[in-house]
Amino acid sequence: MPDFTEYNHPVLAVACPTCRAAAGAWCHCPSGHRAADFHAARRAEADRQFIAQHGDLAAIIHAASGWLIDPRGRARD
Ligand SMILES: [Zn+2]
Repeated sequence: MPDFTEYNHPVLAVACPTCRAAAGAWCHCPSGHRAADFHAARRAEADRQFIAQHGDLAAIIHAASGWLIDPRGRARD
C-alpha cells in the first residue's frame, strides 16, 4: 500500500500510469525532461488509492513536521 506521507508530495506515493514514473520519482515528459507537474492520471490514481486506504472523509495536511493524515479532514458539520 502506498504511504502518502513518505515523500515530498503525496502524489509521489503512487507510480504514474502515463509516463511510468515509479513511486518516489517525478513525472517526466516523452523527451525525458522532468515534467512541470504530475500527470492528471497520476493525481487521479493517488486520489483513488488515498480514499481506498483512508476513507473519503480523510484529508492530507502539510504540517511543519511533514505530511499528516487527518481521518476526518473532509468531514463537514
Ligand atoms: Zn507521469
